[in-house]
Amino acid sequence: MAQDKSFNAFEMAQTQFDKVADMLNLDQGTRDLLRNPFREYHFGIPVRMDDGAVKIFRGFRCQHNDARGPGKGGIRFHPQETIDTVRALSMWMTWKTAVADIPLGGGKGGVICDPHHLSALEQEKICRGWVRQIAKNVGPLADIPAPDVMTSGQHMLWMLDEFETIHGNKYPGFITGKPVGMGGSLGRTEATGYGVIYTLREALKELGINPKETTASVQGFGNVAHYAIKLYSEMGGKIICVSCWDQDDQKSYTYKKNDGIDLDALLSITDRFGGIDKNKARELGYEQLPGEAWIEQDVDILIPAALENQITAESVNKISKRVKIVAEGANGPTTPEADKVLKERNVFVIPDFLANAGGVICSYFEQVQCNMNYFWEKEEVLEKLDAKMTSAYKAVSDLAKKKNIFTRDAAYVIAINRVAQACKDRGWV
Ligand code: NAD
Repeated sequence: MAQDKSFNAFEMAQTQFDKVADMLNLDQGTRDLLRNPFREYHFGIPVRMDDGAVKIFRGFRCQHNDARGPGKGGIRFHPQETIDTVRALSMWMTWKTAVADIPLGGGKGGVICDPHHLSALEQEKICRGWVRQIAKNVGPLADIPAPDVMTSGQHMLWMLDEFETIHGNKYPGFITGKPVGMGGSLGRTEATGYGVIYTLREALKELGINPKETTASVQGFGNVAHYAIKLYSEMGGKIICVSCWDQDDQKSYTYKKNDGIDLDALLSITDRFGGIDKNKARELGYEQLPGEAWIEQDVDILIPAALENQITAESVNKISKRVKIVAEGANGPTTPEADKVLKERNVFVIPDFLANAGGVICSYFEQVQCNMNYFWEKEEVLEKLDAKMTSAYKAVSDLAKKKNIFTRDAAYVIAINRVAQACKDRGWV
């Protein structure tokens, strides 16, 4: 995947933090504590590959902060994974659990690997190897992993099985995002994408815009994008294009239909990594544009739901004057430079760690259900999710209005205040 080598997600996360630390006048000790992960683990995972050769994969886990509860955050499998990306994502998880007001902290893990080129058995060995290296430092009361980019319920189940084998007991709360029927929660698959749209619905209400009269453009066609598109379409909105990665060409494309994309038809020609078959898309009448074209469409709403560093100082100027809302499904899609431009242009931003908090909220529900060994119906899960997302959104929006500040800053103020207070109450700073 083509990535900007000069971009450093961790530096961006620290810049965002520093700005709010200044606004809050945080003392030096608290700043020093929260600017970096509390703990981090780096390790090698030896795997005997299908051809008999042994390959060592690099694995990571960062535990940014656990003052409000056990660490929580996904594990990414990605060929361009770096420790700084994992650090940034672990910090963003701390803010996410805090703004959502769930009793968890922030963590993140990763393995440098490309599942496109690994058999199921090789992926299972990486999952089990990752757990063997970190089994003493994670757990239901310490740090709880979950799926992220290119990891799924199956990966979580292999990890759970290895953890339970090592510790000699059943620990269904060790990991979330498990398959339904194996300790997973109904609604988890939908949770992040639906959560993005619950917050978008509230923002549209606040701005007095009828969803039925809006159009949107989406970057990404994976788990988050899929369910965001589904719920937004059910609200009456029209998605005119999606952009995703093409495995064969090693670049991305935007697929466009002016009268609105057909989600089910596109899903039927999409691989398990969220890549659309471009030849079949053409046959279905989709216009094929460059990958970056999703950002310059004449729409009301942009939903980045792929990766970080997509709305940058350069690309932000391509955004149409018609765009009123950016709902960030992905983590860290907008750089601080681009944020300034969006603010000046009065674009309403629903910041990533609020907009995409649905996944971690539902993961928390999964843990609660596992601990009770009693599982809720899907409607109940989604109802509770909507209530939690809506109340988090309202708290952010109320503060933004009261203090006349940008929504991202308001979300940060709430989250950082909660975490700083927990550190103080524990006597850490
Ligand atoms: P996914 O792996 O299911 O899908 C990723 C999608 O992005 C794919 O369609 C891929 O083709 C596309 N993509 C990758 N690079 C691209 C590029 N350069 N241009 C255009 N498209 C590109 O991942 P996901 O679970 O949907 O996660 C998407 C984002 O949301 C990530 O930033 C992730 O960290 C974040 N997120 C996910 C969850 C969750 O529960 N899945 C929760 C919170 C945040």
